[in-house]
Amino acid sequence: MVVIGSGPAGVAVAERLYKERPSVTIAIIERGSTLLRRHFYTNGALIGERDRFLARHQVCPWEGDLDEGGALLPALGGRGIVGGSQLHRFYASDLTLWPNGLWPLTEGELDPYFREAETRLLGGSRCGGPAQEYVCESLANLHARHPPCGPAVDTERRPSVGLPHHSSVERLLALLDMDRAAPSRRLRIFTDTRAVRLVADPARPRHMSRVRCVPAGEPGGAHFDVHGGAFVLAASAVESARLVLVSGVQALNGMSTNVGRYLMEHVYCRGYLDVSRHQKIPPGPINVFVPPQSAALENRFQVEICSVTHPADGRSVLRVTGSAAMDPQRQNRVTLSPDRVDGHGVPRASTVLRLSPGDERRKMSLLRGLQNIAALLGGSWLAPPAVMPRGASYHEAGTLRIAQSPAEGAAAPDGSLFGWDNVFTGDASAFPSVGVANPILTITAMGYRLADRLASRLGIFERA
Ligand SMILES: Cc1cc2nc3c(=O)[nH]c(=O)nc-3n(C[C@H](O)[C@H](O)[C@H](O)COP(=O)(O)OP(=O)(O)OC[C@H]3O[C@@H](n4cnc5c(N)ncnc54)[C@H](O)[C@@H]3O)c2cc1C
Repeated sequence: MVVIGSGPAGVAVAERLYKERPSVTIAIIERGSTLLRRHFYTNGALIGERDRFLARHQVCPWEGDLDEGGALLPALGGRGIVGGSQLHRFYASDLTLWPNGLWPLTEGELDPYFREAETRLLGGSRCGGPAQEYVCESLANLHARHPPCGPAVDTERRPSVGLPHHSSVERLLALLDMDRAAPSRRLRIFTDTRAVRLVADPARPRHMSRVRCVPAGEPGGAHFDVHGGAFVLAASAVESARLVLVSGVQALNGMSTNVGRYLMEHVYCRGYLDVSRHQKIPPGPINVFVPPQSAALENRFQVEICSVTHPADGRSVLRVTGSAAMDPQRQNRVTLSPDRVDGHGVPRASTVLRLSPGDERRKMSLLRGLQNIAALLGGSWLAPPAVMPRGASYHEAGTLRIAQSPAEGAAAPDGSLFGWDNVFTGDASAFPSVGVANPILTITAMGYRLADRLASRLGIFERA
């Protein structure tokens, strides 16, 4: 099994296959290096440090609308090493709510995978104490509460500076340790290795045989091929679609014309609320979220409230961030740049991501919601809520979405790309709608589900 990308998506597929199917050997191809062995605990004072780390290491390999604020973090563990203070299930209603983005699976089907993801990922401690309780009580009518915590949670609810979770890189390195101790090796991780093209098998219709790779930091370096029985695309929604498009295979086997289409992310709005002179908010860490207030499309947004320290004077500030869903639209898409290539001669991805009238209404509703939260909490805006550049949510989705037919999506409900028997979408590119929840937990649950589908087809791949 060849997995391209080592973020939360690639790790989920690999860890489940490795543990459940002892006959499988797995290669993971990752363009970045090992930058961190644990992830940043993203809360409180550490947020500034985390953001500086991100600014130093992230790269934006695409152009167009989404490059205004988005980027990849080429590293073992992907963006999972900096994200994860909010790990939510995809809200069940979002599976069926979006007229143009119905999921070909049910909440019940996903439930066991969510439970497993929660067991593996959530853990550590939670914010507690009077500050956290004050904010939850002030926003009780909006159902504000602490983000989900795992079974290992500190039940005393003692104040904590973060919400540790078991991140992609930690789980992958643990898997590698386990493999090193095993009598025969089954896991190979290629870091600093860029996948540039999938290559079809001339002898077997509907099958890829290998992925062409180049050393990531060496333009002009010699390429090599990694062969496999099956291939999982887990390079992020933009990069996974680019890999398919750049491989020049979409004309083969009646592939769907939806490859690259239905690109989405969250409309991201953020403000900073100064609560340093607030008489009632006690000192202490805060990490609270406010779920969507109803199933009306206009209200499909979620708000996160997090204590941060002002970088200049150390004042206590609340960072208030809203993520609103986007309508799935066919014209929002990833294509190949007609004239620009990267250092390896590969066409850059070009992104189109425009808001629909419904998105605009939802955005305005979100901005009103943020003002309402500020009024309920008190304090004054240090920076009033503003819409962040496109891409800034880092929650891209769609592009190879699963659907019942090629007319509606690019992949079958089991994740296999239409037209191909052994290529699978393993990241948020598979999402038919982006919904409201932060994606890591859903990406992980979907990764476990995909691993089970792959396992049930192992015989087919072995014969390849
Ligand atoms: C600061 C920050 C905070 C966040 N907070 C949260 C949060 O609290 N909760 C949440 O759910 N989400 C959060 N996110 C979003 C979350 O990190 C992403 O949604 C998630 O990492 C996506 O997982 P992925 O595996 O699909 O992609 P990625 O994590 O981007 O991993 C893709 C990997 O593929 C590699 N790759 C790409 N192209 C190639 C190629 N051609 N060849 C080889 N390798 C390749 C990349 O280097 C990367 O390592 C946050 C993101 C950021 C940046």
